[in-house]
Amino acid sequence: MNTIIEPFRIKSVEPIYFTTREERFHILRQAHYNPFLIKAQDVIIDLLTDSGTSAMSSEQWAGMMRGDESYAGSDSFFRFEETVKRITGLPFIIPTHQGRASEKILFTIMGGKGKYVLSNTLFDTTRANVEFSGAEGVDFRCAEGRDPELDAPFKGNMDTAALHSFIREKGAAAISLVMLTITNNSGGGQPVSMANVREISTICKQQGIPLFIDACRFAENAYFIKLREAGYESKNIPEIAKEFFSYADGCTMSAKKDAFANIGGFIALRDEPLAEKCRNLLIITEGFPTYGGLAGRDLEAIAIGLQEVMDEDYLKYRIRSIQYMGNQLDALGIPYIKPTGGHAVYLDAKRFMDHIPVDEYPGQALCTALYLEGGIRGVEIGSVMFGKYATDGSLVSPPMELVRLAIPRRVYTQSHIDYVTEVIAGVYNKRRDFSGYRIAHEPPFLRHFTARFEPVSP
Ligand SMILES: *Cc1c(COP(=O)(O)O)cnc(C)c1O
Repeated sequence: MNTIIEPFRIKSVEPIYFTTREERFHILRQAHYNPFLIKAQDVIIDLLTDSGTSAMSSEQWAGMMRGDESYAGSDSFFRFEETVKRITGLPFIIPTHQGRASEKILFTIMGGKGKYVLSNTLFDTTRANVEFSGAEGVDFRCAEGRDPELDAPFKGNMDTAALHSFIREKGAAAISLVMLTITNNSGGGQPVSMANVREISTICKQQGIPLFIDACRFAENAYFIKLREAGYESKNIPEIAKEFFSYADGCTMSAKKDAFANIGGFIALRDEPLAEKCRNLLIITEGFPTYGGLAGRDLEAIAIGLQEVMDEDYLKYRIRSIQYMGNQLDALGIPYIKPTGGHAVYLDAKRFMDHIPVDEYPGQALCTALYLEGGIRGVEIGSVMFGKYATDGSLVSPPMELVRLAIPRRVYTQSHIDYVTEVIAGVYNKRRDFSGYRIAHEPPFLRHFTARFEPVSP
């Protein structure tokens, strides 16, 4: 088989600034060993997130110029609305400035004290908005999804038996909605199968519970279904997407993911009275219903991006390039979460840095080592991000210590990825030279963004 090449040519470029190891040593120290505090210009390959970091196409840039900035009834809104309706089959479309704004509006109306929101895995902003409304978020991730070693096709699925028994225990009236995150971001970008969506939808319909989809990576998920689920081999991406949206009562989306936009989002709904309530809140918090929190040019870019993301040549390259990195890591014997998902590779820092105890943050050690050795920026997803303290002051760790390398869409080429794995291999070969960290300063909430660290042994 021939090499799967990037399905685009490059028309406009951005420079990468190179730093020496010596310079990065000082930059890292000045940033208190926290990659979030490093300036983007001092990063060679930035894998911090795939959110809002996509390269737009020439068509999208042309759309930006065409954007109609009328306050009400803008042409760009109608193009955006038509596209989202066509993809989702949902009739009521509400633009917002990003995913969490959609969540805030939805859960202000649907959440509240004493209610539950059930999920395969709620993304952290979704959980925060559920909890802010007074409701409680509960995740039922399938058993395969909890085993980092297991190579299974749909590790993003929800555990439907657990869903059933929770509904039986609490009663359907206590459950605001079920939110299915596709692909399952916090679960490693793993896909959800059509069979799982269908089964959850049947349960929800029987119980009268609304089913929502967190659709940030709907196209990546649809492509995994085409590749891995019997009966979908010869369906195209719009057909597959249309089918899973047909089981849902609504969706929220961040256009910063599978819409190749740098900002934006929406809510799509089946129920008109609910749409009315959402629009009433939208006017207070985001803007008039035909622009939400966006400029006309953003609506234009999103409408075009949503169409482009369903192109199978793009999706083949996208999924294959993440897998390609996984294959290289396999050849080197480097531990990561298997199989690779749709948007990122998750290095298993606990095994990678097995000489560093969890209370010295092996994920942080791996993250800073990748920056020092190769100028690569990833993000720790482990005890720094999710650790809590017990009453005696000892650290309570989450089950895994990971470093996420998220791949921006259409930004890096195969040689960039080759470079990344070379740097990872270099760090792996001398991993015992890297020490753990202690936290020198931390804020009360979301400490990973601003915490300061010190090496345990400099
Ligand atoms: C990014 C993301 C969100 C939130 O979207 P923002 O645009 O960052 O506010 C919600 N859910 C999932 C699964 C995401 O990946």
